[in-house]
Amino acid sequence: MTKLRRVLVTGGAGFLGSHMCERLVNEGHDVICLDNFFTAQKSNVAHLLGRPNFELIRHDVTLPIFLEVDQIYHMACPAAPGHYQFNPIKTIKTSVMGSINMLGMAKRCGARILLASTSEIYGDPLIHPQPESYWGNVNTIGLRSCYDEGKRVAETLFMDYHRMNKVDVRIVRIFNTYGPRMHPYDGRVVSNFIRQAIQGQPITIFGEGEQTRSFCYRDDLVEGIFRLMNNEDGFIGPVNIGNPGEFTIRELAELVIQLTGAKVKLEKRPLPPDDPTRRQPDITLAKKHLHWEPKIPLNQGLQQTIDWFRSIDFDHYRPPTPNFV
Ligand code: NAD
Ligand code: UDP
Repeated sequence: MTKLRRVLVTGGAGFLGSHMCERLVNEGHDVICLDNFFTAQKSNVAHLLGRPNFELIRHDVTLPIFLEVDQIYHMACPAAPGHYQFNPIKTIKTSVMGSINMLGMAKRCGARILLASTSEIYGDPLIHPQPESYWGNVNTIGLRSCYDEGKRVAETLFMDYHRMNKVDVRIVRIFNTYGPRMHPYDGRVVSNFIRQAIQGQPITIFGEGEQTRSFCYRDDLVEGIFRLMNNEDGFIGPVNIGNPGEFTIRELAELVIQLTGAKVKLEKRPLPPDDPTRRQPDITLAKKHLHWEPKIPLNQGLQQTIDWFRSIDFDHYRPPTPNFV
């Protein structure tokens, strides 16, 4: 039988955080969802509000907070380039000060704490696919640095609290993940392409569309993170969680057009600075230690995401920042 715990999910009303909260509530845990609603939607967690084991707190992780918990999923941080570049200083504060506050809470409570890190810590990688042992190729002063370097410092803080204060940490490096509840105006490639196709607008390809990404469906991702948090074999990561299926952005656009049946054109736009050329996870460690690998292929996950996008009213969503296509 699962041991029931008091679990905090920071960024719990966001895309991935809300799915994590839902999984934990359904397993019977006492879940506190903490969010400042920068990029979140209340509708992501509205269905959980009536549950006796779910609580929602509006709070900013850059400020201290005192709670009593057994586990912390630390997921608060804007994740889409248009969101994290809107206020880059706030983004880095969220990663650095937010991690210090949550690590302090974990230390005080003796809680286990998991960091939602990112494949972005590899930057524009010179090694392909990327294993966890690769230290990355990151610009320290570019437009993406607030996010990339913020997460790199967060990983450092997690390991230093672990070594110095014996805090029980876990670090997951998440590769591009998609699925229902992505914000339709977050500017990420999957949400952009699906929204554009449904609305009959041209699909915006940045650069030549030859850059690659590897897309993981949200159910696979949530399962991987859950396994890492609850692994008792002493494996703390960092571990890549992502789908090794690698696609060019142009291939993704063509697949979205095929699955939606949209009659839309591709429209080229300038490639944003420091846009990584290739990205693909090496998931050897996840397979070995977590017995995890993704199960949902891109066309199936995209179809489910398209169905969800068709079911929502876009007028109920506003872009959180002006930085979107
Ligand atoms: P999201 O923007 O939907 O979720 C982030 C959540 O954090 C939002 O609910 C937002 O309101 C909240 N938040 C932001 N700043 C905050 C602050 N200062 N205090 C409290 N709450 C704050 O994005 P997501 O895709 O769900 O990402 C969740 C986490 O996973 C992030 O930490 C992100 O870096 C990481 N991640 C996601 C992906 C992906 O492909 N989705 C890839 C790599 C890493
Ligand atoms: N991209 C694109 N058109 C869009 C949005 C994004 O061609 O409308 C490209 C972007 O330049 C990048 C890839 O898609 O090469 C993934 O972008 P996203 O913002 O989803 O994530 P990240 O760059 O952080 O992986």
